[in-house]
Amino acid sequence: MTCVRCGERREGAGSVLPGMLGEQIARRVCSACWAEWLQEQIKVINHYGLRPALREDRERLYGITREYFGLPPEDLPERS
Ligand SMILES: [Zn+2]
Repeated sequence: MTCVRCGERREGAGSVLPGMLGEQIARRVCSACWAEWLQEQIKVINHYGLRPALREDRERLYGITREYFGLPPEDLPERS
C-alpha cells in the first residue's frame, strides 16, 4: 500500500484502532508513520489534558488523529 502521509510504499499499520478510522488507517497509513504518531500522540494527550478512557476525549483524539494523517471524516469509496 502507498501511505497517505509519507507517500512511500510500505507495510501497512494493520488493525490498530476500531471502527471507520481504524479501517482507514489500516488501508492508508504505513507502520512507520503509525509508530511516529504514537510518539506524537503522547504529546497531544498531555498538551490537551485528554483522558482517553473517556469517550468524549477519545473522540477528540480520533479527530486529531484524522487531521494528522489528513484522513477525510467519512471514507470515500476506494478507487482501484
Ligand atoms: Zn507512511
